[in-house]
Amino acid sequence: AKEKGKNNFQFFSDDMAFIASRKIALENELRRAIAKEEFILHYQPQIQAATGDIIGMEALIRWQTPAGKTISPGEFIPLAEETRLILPMGEWVLSTACKQAKLWHDSGYSQLKLAVNLSPLQFLDDELMSMIRQTLEKTGFPASSLELEITEGVAVDDAEKAISRMQKLRRLGVRIAIDDFGTGYSSLNYLKRFPLNHLKIAQPFVQDMASNPYDRALVEAMIFIAHSLDMSVVAEGVETEEQLALLKKLGCDEIQGYYYSRPLTADKFTHLLANGLHS
Ligand code: C2E
Ligand code: CA
Ligand code: CA
Repeated sequence: AKEKGKNNFQFFSDDMAFIASRKIALENELRRAIAKEEFILHYQPQIQAATGDIIGMEALIRWQTPAGKTISPGEFIPLAEETRLILPMGEWVLSTACKQAKLWHDSGYSQLKLAVNLSPLQFLDDELMSMIRQTLEKTGFPASSLELEITEGVAVDDAEKAISRMQKLRRLGVRIAIDDFGTGYSSLNYLKRFPLNHLKIAQPFVQDMASNPYDRALVEAMIFIAHSLDMSVVAEGVETEEQLALLKKLGCDEIQGYYYSRPLTADKFTHLLANGLHS
């Protein structure tokens, strides 16, 4: 039995070594990709529920390898966080998105707001405020059109620090959205203490609401609470007409999802602005 235990351990540790070396390989790939600028941003429209107008877009990163493969952020953002490579990557994202959104503003769509995701590590980084200030200055994009999406995870270690960081961002004039709402914990307690403008309902609630009355009730409650606290509500992951109709009925303010559009390249988004959603 002892022998077997030893073998098991051996097997386990080989397995770990394999995972670790794969991780190092991926980390090196990621460093190289940052240096070679192999990332691109896609933009997903956000639609005003009441009018059907495009009122903004969320920037979403993709990794395009030289071999022509597109790798989704779910596959590399966690490692980028772990290795802190998310910091230079996040700076690139903000600067690229602001430059692009400034072009759209200058070509007549000055009402568009830009939403950019911030990972917890970025949000808590000491250089965040100066990085944002410099990026806005350099690109000429107005702070009031920028919305930063954060998750409840930012408050796990130090809620006071997170709140003071949010207040600084608000003073800079940018808006703050809480992303994936309903998937974290202590949600209600945080909600009343965080200076938030926007609440984004997490996709699973939206996707199950048409078939599951509990999810529908939760979505209704989230919208009610957000409105009571003066926040507007975005539903994301909206894929069907039925989900859209329900969300409108429940008073949801903004819609994002494949029903209207998948995330698009900047060129395709420009085309969408000029031609509308249903052409
Ligand atoms: P997220 O911020 O919750 O972004 C929404 C995700 O849902 C995007 O996936 C989007 O393509 C997808 N989505 C939108 N509408 C629908 C729909 O109707 N149905 C379904 N099934 N999915 C929909 P994506 O682009 O793969 O991004 C995944 C996550 O990676 C994001 O989730 C975000 O947490 C992270 N991420 C993406 N870009 C960035 C970035 O620039 N910085 C950071 N820190 N994180 C990013
Ligand atoms: Ca987001
Ligand atoms: Ca989300």
